[in-house]
This record gives sequence, C-alpha cells and structure tokens, in this order.
Amino acid sequence: MKKLYFIVGSQDLYGEQTLKEVARDGREMAEFLNGKLCDLAQVVLMPTVRNADEAEDVFLKVAADKECVGVIVWMHTFSPAKMWIRGLQTLKKPMLHLHTQANEKLPYKTIDMDFMNLNQSAHGDREFGFICTRLNVKRQIVVGYYRHNDVIEKIRSFAEVAVALDFSKRLRVAMFGSNMRDVAVTDGDRVESEIKYGWNVNYYGIGDLVEIADSVTDADIDAKIKEYKTKYEIATGDTAAVREQAKYQIAAERFIDRERVSAFTDNFQDLHGLKQLPGLAVQDIMSRGIGFGAEGDYKTAALMAVLCKMAEKRKGATAFTEDYTYDLTAGSEMELASHMLEVSPVFAASRPKIEVHPLGIGGKEPAARLVFDSIEGDAIAVSMVDMGTHFRLICAKIKLVKQPEKMPKLPVARIMWKLVPDFKTGAAAWIYAGGAHHAVVSTALNVDDIRLFASLTDTELVIIDENTRV
Ligand code: MN
Repeated sequence: MKKLYFIVGSQDLYGEQTLKEVARDGREMAEFLNGKLCDLAQVVLMPTVRNADEAEDVFLKVAADKECVGVIVWMHTFSPAKMWIRGLQTLKKPMLHLHTQANEKLPYKTIDMDFMNLNQSAHGDREFGFICTRLNVKRQIVVGYYRHNDVIEKIRSFAEVAVALDFSKRLRVAMFGSNMRDVAVTDGDRVESEIKYGWNVNYYGIGDLVEIADSVTDADIDAKIKEYKTKYEIATGDTAAVREQAKYQIAAERFIDRERVSAFTDNFQDLHGLKQLPGLAVQDIMSRGIGFGAEGDYKTAALMAVLCKMAEKRKGATAFTEDYTYDLTAGSEMELASHMLEVSPVFAASRPKIEVHPLGIGGKEPAARLVFDSIEGDAIAVSMVDMGTHFRLICAKIKLVKQPEKMPKLPVARIMWKLVPDFKTGAAAWIYAGGAHHAVVSTALNVDDIRLFASLTDTELVIIDENTRV
C-alpha cells in the first residue's frame, strides 16, 4: 500500500502540555484524512517535529521508504524554519503544504493566549512557506479547513498526482521498432526522459512479439474472442482477421507481463511477420490503461500510462489520440481526431463494432479494428515535446462534441472536439507552442492536475484555456 506521511511541525517553546495537544490534533487529522484517501494511499502520522534533528530524521524516513509517495506538512504552532532546512534539502518527493487549523471557527467567547499559541498556523505556516520558497521546494499549497469538501478534493488530487509520479519513476516502456523515419515530434531524448520522469524506454524487435504470437493456441484465441463479445459487436464475417488481432493482443499482453512494461509503441514501417497493423489489439489494450504511442512515440505512450494512473480512481476516459482533419465552417469549426486504427474504446459513446477494412497505407492485409463515435464533454489534450534543452508540456482545454453528421465511409473510430477559447486561437497557440499531432486526451483530468504534475516534475507548461491570447 502506498503511503503519504503526515508531518506536523511545532517546537519545544510552548511546553509539554501544548505538544500533547499538537500530537492529539495531528492524530485526529491523520485519521480523518486517511478515511478520505485510503483508496489512494494510507496517511501515516509521523511524530511531531520539534527541532532540526527530528526534521532531518523524518525526511530521511520519507526518502528511505519506497512505499511513501509524498508528504503532507502542516505547522500546528510556530516552528522556526531554520530547523527545516537540512530536512527539506533531502526531500525528493511531492509535498503538499496543508495550510489549515484543527479548529474551524474562532472560539470568540473563550479564546485566550494559550489557545492562540496552540493554534497559530497563520503564523507558523508563513514561516515554513518562506523557507520552502527560499529553498525552491516544489510543492502544492492547499488552504482551508481540512474537513471542508473542497479542501479534501484538492488533497485527493494531490495524492493522485503523487501516486502517478511514483508510478512514473518506475515506468518501463517498450518500443517495438524505433521512431517513424524522419518524424521529428515523436522523437526525444530517452536518457533525459529517464532522469527526469523515470521512464525506462527500451527498443525491442517486432520479432520478439511475433515469436510469442506464434505460440498462441486456438483455445487462447477462442477465449479472447469470447471476451471481445462481452464488450463489442462483431460486425464482420471475416473471423480470421479478428482472430489474427486476438493473437496479437494475447502476444502483446504476455510480453507486457513478462517485461513488466506499462506502455509501448509500434511503428507501421516495422511490422515484419505481422499480417495486419495491430488495431483492435492495441485499442483493447489501451482501454486497460496501458500507455500507447503510434509511430514510435514513446513520450505520448509513457505520458498516457502516467495520466491513466493519475485518473485511476476517477470517472472518465483517458487515452492516446491523433489530430487529423477539420471542419472549417466559420463559427462552428471542429476538429476530427482519429488515427489509422488506434483510438481507445474508452471514448466510445455506444457499443463499439469490430469491423475489417483495408488500410490506405502500410501495405498490410485488411485489419480488424473497433469503430465507434465518441462521447461528449469537457476534456483536456496534453502533449509532451522535446525542445532540445528541456521537455515542454502543452495542455489545452477542449470540448468533445457529437459529430454533426454520420460518416458512413470512414472505417475507423473517431472523436470530434472544439478548441478553446476559439478554434483559431486554440490551434495557433498549440502550433506556436510546438504541440504535437499526438496527445493524451482526458475527460477525467483537468488543467490543475497537469499544472501540479508539471510543477512537481519541474517541466515547462503551456496552458491553452479561456484566457489564452496568441
Ligand atoms: Mn501520428
């Protein structure tokens, strides 16, 4: 079970009785927060920190505990901040500075000096905040009474990002084949990706997958087809083509388990030994939250896996998408996102159909794929690009919309959306920022989640929202 350490700061100045009350309030608060967060991470109360040695000890424990994904820190009383320097200098995990109080209301009739000395986070959290800012500690500050719903929501979001960052640190990505020939935006510095985000990205020959596929039995494929039937409508007579995709999926899943990878890429230029481009296989795997990037796009594959982890406990859809074409009707411009095949069924508005059609490019046999129209609603599109000196995230608000007319001749799944603040501003801003034609689209996450992820990983972030002007 992942853990969040809850660290309460104080000092010896106020005497034994005050420290007892600090410990009691800390316990009550930790228990309450644990009740609200325990599906994400266990909230573990640490002993009250009174001096520099104890501060150092607690942060060394944070560093040493692999299950600890981050810390929540709160100053119950004043806690002179020089005592936090040594400890904070060792902190490499996400921090939430919770600016709260044990009491919601001021007890106007009874308040005395003792009460004020005990409950002085307005005083102590400013001192602590200063030293964090001076030391450039990346953290989220959440303000408000800890039992209020909006505060709990923010703490939960922090926990989700912290758990996702912990996952990111150990994320393994497999590239079947390399980056698509000559394509710039999908490429990147894999060493830097591992240093910065933990992504261990390795190349495999497609033959590694073909070898496993050759060992898949008819009975294995029967079981997979049965599984498809529970989720999808089989709208083709070409069962051989569907069984071929089932075989690829079983092989890919065995590979994923064996190599402990949580994201992968392929490249349609390098499919030697496969009769079809993996379509249905990749689509169904993506719906499990396994990251995918087409054309060797390891950054989008890894980002998708991390964002799916972040959104694990939320409602909504999160997956890889590709920008394709527009409806440029003045005033009601819309974008059509799709791909050759790989659109995740998490975006399906109704039961997806398995169909088999030829592909215009790639020179392979007609491939089985899922075809569907998309859900509607507010979403974000997130793209990561390598600027040479650093990575940049571009996060745009978008609105998924119903396609205005049927597209009976388009044999692939599709998503349509409107850009924010308007089509021309949104598209120009994205292109000026260097945003890719690949993105992770999510209806579960919002700009604040990406802002926190960017801040905690010290990644440059361009936000495109209602307030954007080019
Ligand atoms: Mn592409």
